[in-house]
Amino acid sequence: MVSRVIPVDTFDLVIFGGTGDLARRKILPGLFRRFAAGQMPEAAQVIGAARSDMDVTEYRSMIRDALKEFSDKAEQGDDVIDGFLEHIDYAQVDAQGDDGWDALREKLRDGVVRAFYFSVAPFLFGDIAERLKTRGLSDDQSRIVVEKPFGRDLETARSLNRTLATFFDEGQIYRIDHYLGKETVQNLMAVRFGNILFEPLWNSQFIDHVQITVAETVGVGGRGSYYDKSGAMRDMVQNHLMQLLCLIAMEPPARFEPDAVRDEKLKVIRALEPVAPNEVVRGQYEGAEGENYVDHAEDPRSTTESFVAMKVQVANWRWQGTPFYLRTGKKLRSRVSEIVVRFREPPHSIFGKDAGGRANELAIRLQPDEGMDLRVTIKEPGPGGMRLVDVPLDMTFAEALGPDAEEVPDAYERLIMDVIRGNQTLFMRGDEVEAAWAWTDPIIANWEEAKVRPAKYDSGTSGPEASLELLHRDGRRWRDIRT
Ligand code: NAP
Repeated sequence: MVSRVIPVDTFDLVIFGGTGDLARRKILPGLFRRFAAGQMPEAAQVIGAARSDMDVTEYRSMIRDALKEFSDKAEQGDDVIDGFLEHIDYAQVDAQGDDGWDALREKLRDGVVRAFYFSVAPFLFGDIAERLKTRGLSDDQSRIVVEKPFGRDLETARSLNRTLATFFDEGQIYRIDHYLGKETVQNLMAVRFGNILFEPLWNSQFIDHVQITVAETVGVGGRGSYYDKSGAMRDMVQNHLMQLLCLIAMEPPARFEPDAVRDEKLKVIRALEPVAPNEVVRGQYEGAEGENYVDHAEDPRSTTESFVAMKVQVANWRWQGTPFYLRTGKKLRSRVSEIVVRFREPPHSIFGKDAGGRANELAIRLQPDEGMDLRVTIKEPGPGGMRLVDVPLDMTFAEALGPDAEEVPDAYERLIMDVIRGNQTLFMRGDEVEAAWAWTDPIIANWEEAKVRPAKYDSGTSGPEASLELLHRDGRRWRDIRT
């Protein structure tokens, strides 16, 4: 397996789909942040590739507009943008044809890391991989970056893995999940494995349950026809929520190295119990006229879910008896991604049951305001006896680290640099993706066989009633979705 860390002297990065939405909204603004922070190697070259007929001047102009619209660093001014654009080139290439490949190869330099970002529809992945190899654009130092969705079930994921493996080693394939690029997610590992405080408590003896919430306020909007074939289970649970679950539940890896971490994540996925039909809730939002989910779906009778909540059990010694509750949905009350680790109550209260106080809670926020918040119980100030209150030990990174600390990098910015450095720790391995599909496929198959219709929920709420009920019947409740 090729997996090595090499110095980032310079690189050639080709973005297939360089004119597309993801490239303009995330990938290029991520690279621009690196540049604005003075961290882009001087000779780095970024080549947008797509079928559109345009020259480099027109492409740079397109990227300038994109940065102005989507980059939080654009206010640094035109000079900075101009400097960045000098690194940008364009190649007209048809992923499925013969045109443009030789010209693209001519632009690539020898002795430089080559990374090829597949920011195109998944049906083109195989065509591009094949042409990179057969037309001599890639070498054994090259990396490819593959966007989600990685298949739509186990069979298609396997087939895609096989296709990519024909042309590239696993150590050259970077399956991106931008949730893993978030600073907080990495901090989760730092908190768990860099402190003595948490790990001894990190098991079912001391943790009552875990909640993972990824709530969006937006609906499917213009992505309706794509989303309708996918749904929240495939679009969010199989990848993002599963990855977060793995990081919370995994055993400590021996080293912070790609395969050591990914081996442990894989063990978690393989330990997941099948989910019983009554432990998963599907929902679909309703809104004002024209704002119902089905108004944007191809089929007005669509039964695709825009919301999923589920109770998940990790069947191993560490987690026996500690459920993980997952939920994700669109058109919810607020935009929040967080993990809540709810500890058990102290076995006995010496202050009496009326003194107040609750179980400790560690909340790890991915958005907004990346940070962590640990709720601890203290004495309420004042002379009125021993009354207890919960207070947050808040660690919003921006506040805790102060204005001089290095800015929290954007997820894409970090992940692209990891590709260049050759560090696969935050990327999914092929077997992980397949194991995740192997677990989600039966849930989806059951919905299809039983023709389970999603429960309707009003836009702007916390989702269907049944999702609240999922926890209520265990004597628990979701943490409020709030910003
Ligand atoms: P998009 O806006 O439709 O862009 C597609 C890009 O592919 C365009 O640059 C298009 O340019 C190019 N393209 C299409 N056919 C081509 C061909 N035969 N040869 C070469 N280039 C071709 O799509 P997107 O939203 O950027 O998404 C790209 C990928 O990222 C998809 O796999 C998507 O699932 C994934 N993704 C997107 C987002 C997001 O927020 N947008 C988030 C996560 C994952 P030409 O038409 O000029 O060729």
